[in-house]
Amino acid sequence: MATQRIAIIGGGPGGLMLARLLQRQGKCPVVLERDRHAEERPQGGSLDMHSETGQYAMERAGLREAFMAAARPEDQGDRLYNAEGELLFDRNEPTDDRPEIDRSVLRQILLNSLTPGTVLWGRRINRITHGKGGFVVGGDGWSEQFDAVVGADGAWSYVRPLLSDAVPLYEGVTLFELGFDVSRHPRVSKLTGNGKMLAVGDNRALITQRNGDGHIRGYAGVRLAESSAKEWASWSGENVRQALRDVFAGWAPELRDVIETGDFIGVRPLYALPIGHSWKNQTGLTLLGDAAHLMSPFSGEGVNLALADAVELADALTSTDDRSSVSQYERTICARATVAAEGAAQGLRSVFSFTGVEHVLEHYRARVHA
Ligand SMILES: Cc1cc2nc3c(=O)[nH]c(=O)nc-3n(C[C@H](O)[C@H](O)[C@H](O)COP(=O)(O)OP(=O)(O)OC[C@H]3O[C@@H](n4cnc5c(N)ncnc54)[C@H](O)[C@@H]3O)c2cc1C
Repeated sequence: MATQRIAIIGGGPGGLMLARLLQRQGKCPVVLERDRHAEERPQGGSLDMHSETGQYAMERAGLREAFMAAARPEDQGDRLYNAEGELLFDRNEPTDDRPEIDRSVLRQILLNSLTPGTVLWGRRINRITHGKGGFVVGGDGWSEQFDAVVGADGAWSYVRPLLSDAVPLYEGVTLFELGFDVSRHPRVSKLTGNGKMLAVGDNRALITQRNGDGHIRGYAGVRLAESSAKEWASWSGENVRQALRDVFAGWAPELRDVIETGDFIGVRPLYALPIGHSWKNQTGLTLLGDAAHLMSPFSGEGVNLALADAVELADALTSTDDRSSVSQYERTICARATVAAEGAAQGLRSVFSFTGVEHVLEHYRARVHA
């Protein structure tokens, strides 16, 4: 018999997509999210949605129209500069089928698609125990019984250690996130073009990416020891900016503009689970998205995989033999994520190397000719 009462831990894109798909198949899942409301934290920048994973999931969820109405196919351009500010690659037309959408907009589409009351906000899970044929899930001062629990709770998943000993490891690179309004930063807008700009030098990089509503999101990427990344994270925005000025000294002034003029948003050290992460199937308990296969953003696959996982898991949980279907789901998503994680690790190594720009240029040219 298919599982009845399902707790989805985490209301990110993966967890919300799973809830939507289960509701379409007559289930009543509950999403337990630690944030107190949808706007509690900035949701990050623009995501490109791949046809065979992210877009396919939106289609299966009956949300293709809402997605296309909000997506920005015109923002798929790519530019590559070297540290001297020389433009090495410039593709400004939307030739890929990978429309961009702001993460906050995607999340809102998913939230709007759910039956009111599906997401229980302010529910940080800190207890999951076995109980009467299922699980007791709890936080501070409350607990509830469920037949099945899905850990869609991201990089630092509470659920994952119940299934696996794997822990995310620091990738050696930290991104410093910056925000720009196009109206106040016309030079950064010009540099960025219609999509994403990457400037690569000796083991460091600058990235800017056009978002919706006249915003641009930027990142300064630096190879740093984990302890230094933690130390920098405790500094004021102005002290971080000063340190970045030193790191990017000698770069072209129009590129350094990104560091000089951006509003400082935060420090993002990059972590990844070991490539090929998998776990032994346990009845009633599984993982999805970053909780299952956290990787660096250098393959652009994270959110796409989380959404595609949700499709496979919704099918498994509503099948007549959900135990073996979930086990098959786990094998499928782990195999698929392994390929993406290898790409992400390779992407990160290419960008942050002594010969970064040549490798990245080769990769960009190969994509055009693929
Ligand atoms: C800088 C950066 C850029 C990126 N760019 C891209 C890109 O261009 N393309 C792309 O595909 N991917 C990108 N990614 C990756 C992408 O953001 C993630 O892969 C995606 O968000 C994973 O979705 P998820 O639903 O699995 O987890 P998350 O989005 O992390 O959601 C997890 C949710 O669980 C909640 N939660 C956590 N712990 C608990 C708890 N104990 N109790 C209750 N709730 C909890 C959190 O509050 C959160 O809402 C990027 C990531 C970063 C850091």
